[in-house]
Amino acid sequence: VTDWQGKNVTVAGLGVSGVPAARVLHGLGAHVTVVNDGDDDRARAQAAELEALGVTVRLGDGATLPEGTELIVTAPGWQPDKPLFAAAERAGVPVWGDVELAWRLRGPDAAPWLAVTGTNGKTTTVQMLASILTAAGLRTAAVGNIGVSLLEAVLGDEPYDVLAVELSSYQLHWAPSVRAHSAVVLNLAPDHLDWHGSMEAYAADKGRVYEGNRVACVYNAADKATEDLVRAADVEEGCRAIGFTLGTPGPSQLGVVDGILVDRAFVENRQKNAQELAEVSDVVPPAPHNIANALAAAALARAFGVPPQAVRDGLRAFTPDAHRIAHVADVDGVAYVDDSKATNTHAAQASLAAYESIVWIAGGLAKGAAFDELVASSARRLRGVVLMGADRALIREALARHAPEVPVVDLDRTDTGAMLQAVQEAKRLAGPGDTVLLAPACASMDMFANYNRRGDAFAQAVRELGA
Ligand code: ADP
Repeated sequence: VTDWQGKNVTVAGLGVSGVPAARVLHGLGAHVTVVNDGDDDRARAQAAELEALGVTVRLGDGATLPEGTELIVTAPGWQPDKPLFAAAERAGVPVWGDVELAWRLRGPDAAPWLAVTGTNGKTTTVQMLASILTAAGLRTAAVGNIGVSLLEAVLGDEPYDVLAVELSSYQLHWAPSVRAHSAVVLNLAPDHLDWHGSMEAYAADKGRVYEGNRVACVYNAADKATEDLVRAADVEEGCRAIGFTLGTPGPSQLGVVDGILVDRAFVENRQKNAQELAEVSDVVPPAPHNIANALAAAALARAFGVPPQAVRDGLRAFTPDAHRIAHVADVDGVAYVDDSKATNTHAAQASLAAYESIVWIAGGLAKGAAFDELVASSARRLRGVVLMGADRALIREALARHAPEVPVVDLDRTDTGAMLQAVQEAKRLAGPGDTVLLAPACASMDMFANYNRRGDAFAQAVRELGA
């Protein structure tokens, strides 16, 4: 679409993506109608703001397709099985998400996208990537599902050489024509299956990130599903599949040799068969899954032509966001670590794998997950477990099946104050050299507003221990 003048566009959903999308489309001359399921105070305030501009807003009716709609721009979270989309399909109306809109509105000389998706590690990897690109002297930003919005990055005055773009499976579902320079699917584990309908549908949406890639499709050599997605993708001629591994890299791979991150895929000096990028100790925290994130970021940066030196400088300059394996304090020889962001079993598995002798604090909303594999693979490293939250019984039962020897304290609480008691119980179970690890494997909303609050409560409780 190049001519928006008078075009009838329906924006589905107010909120972080809908409000800016409606503004931008209205500014381009489109006739914009926003439909929104909810009708609460926040929605009313946003509606009033848009109506003042001349945008039509229908609150409390997200199901009816407005007469004459030529295009729907939807919030990424709207589930594909909603009646609005069935109506759109019957009427032959295309549906774009916020990412698709940003893609279509880019100028002809717009910065290429290096795209990152996966079940876990997206934010960390995108931030590492932006740090590496910055170290290489490129003008860039981490955008998409984090930080700066894509629309802002694409339409703002700030000139970029390249964008590090985090894309969720929802965003990819609604972004059929996005074509990245290069992309990675970091890993694939069951998550959000209620939204996508099945693991196959979830994987297919993640796999879209590779469609039409020009230079490199980066995959996780330890996660075959990601490699399968590369094989299934339709890419530009000359686009290469590049793997990353925590072991010795094969051809066309990045990996680790003797504590050094090395690149065999993009070798500049023909005499050598690997290029040294950085040391494992340059990666913070140096947990295995995070080394994987660093390798993925390095692969994308190298695909963009960034020299090895900048990979190291960028990784050294990177500091992780809060609540992602954050070391809170040492108290009486015990380390207290906050990985509140481990909101699913796959993430918790990664953090449990990073420590040897652990008192594990877990529980919350399970979102339909099973805990057997997580518990079985971590049993050996558990010195004790403290459980709280709505779905803690699922974890307790898995522990009884796979780790019957491990002492478990079930707090039987779902109030916010439970965190202090959990930390006190964990202290009692822990000995010198142990790590008390908050890696709940569950969402936080049964007890806290979000994972940030949960992590803050943990840190506060640890401070009270030490005081
Ligand atoms: P996302 O943006 O995909 O949610 P984050 O970078 O915010 O990912 O990390 C979320 C959590 O996932 C972290 O707290 C950590 O427990 C876990 N994690 C990070 N990277 C990985 C990875 N590569 N594999 C598995 N788990 C990971």
